[in-house]
Amino acid sequence: MEALDVDAPEGVVVQTPPLSVHSLGPASGLREALRRSGIAARLAPKTTVVLDFGDGLPIDDLAADIRLQALESSRLHVGIGHAPVIWIGDVAAGNAGAAVIGMLEILAAAGPGTRARDLSAAAFRSAIARLLVSGRAPEPRGTADAVGRHSGAVGIGLPFGWTKAGTLQQLLSAAVDLGADRVWASPGRALVFESLPGAPAARFIALASALRFIVNPGDLRRRVVACIGAPGCASAFQPVRTLADDVAGIAALLNGDERIHLSGCAKGCAHPRRAAVTLVGWEAGFRLVLDGTPDGVSVASLSPTDVLAKLPDLLEKRRRRPEEAAARGVGGGRG
Ligand code: SF4
Repeated sequence: MEALDVDAPEGVVVQTPPLSVHSLGPASGLREALRRSGIAARLAPKTTVVLDFGDGLPIDDLAADIRLQALESSRLHVGIGHAPVIWIGDVAAGNAGAAVIGMLEILAAAGPGTRARDLSAAAFRSAIARLLVSGRAPEPRGTADAVGRHSGAVGIGLPFGWTKAGTLQQLLSAAVDLGADRVWASPGRALVFESLPGAPAARFIALASALRFIVNPGDLRRRVVACIGAPGCASAFQPVRTLADDVAGIAALLNGDERIHLSGCAKGCAHPRRAAVTLVGWEAGFRLVLDGTPDGVSVASLSPTDVLAKLPDLLEKRRRRPEEAAARGVGGGRG
């Protein structure tokens, strides 16, 4: 990891767009200011600050508490939340650290589990009023998929967000051997390797694929979310990671960007939101929840072997539901 200059920060997450050269120095300064402040201990886990200097792969969709976006070097736009960001105003670049810490103090004062989306923009604005100068909201930059080839760089996905240490070491060694000089931890459970143009990039992609990493943006494994499950988690009833690889093929039966969520228990750590298909581990196998959350009402109970045997049919029926409803005249307009 050291050979590739991997940044593995603790405390508040300061996320920059992968391949953003301009954000490297400011991000490192902000991390140091946050570390010195000691504020992380009073904040929710994974409290996130995005620092975007307008270069690199855009990450507008990344869930964040605070967002700083610079379109010129001397000023940053400050906002809270994501999709949409609520922009508060501009601060001088030299005051960015003080503004972030001032806003995080508001989160900390509201309780250790509080996220920026839980509070009003007015509370943050008033906390940093003395630092704000007038400015207008920046244009959205959008979001880029980190997986795949970029200019002089390659993005590799981690299947289901994890890999074994030895396999990661092989990937990192291959990257170094081929000339990579930096790796960026990217949203989307991906790593982006810098300084891999042309032929080295092609060789690296082939090696990564042989190690079962995700090299294709359309890889169906990206449609499956799985927690650690058994035996890694003491609360788990079922080993979900071993099932995830097989279930990925079934994800082709989903529409658009729908997801399958495999959860070792009803807590649903990996995806505590709605999913097209949620399989929740319990003593006898899996509860199947369609279009719901892990604690939602199940439509079937499946043994681990039933999951692969019966899920395709169940999804096919689900896919036909809108057509059948249309054929019956259901939802066909106002009465
Ligand atoms: S969802 Fe349950 S099994 Fe999975 S990591 Fe969380 S607590 Fe463990």
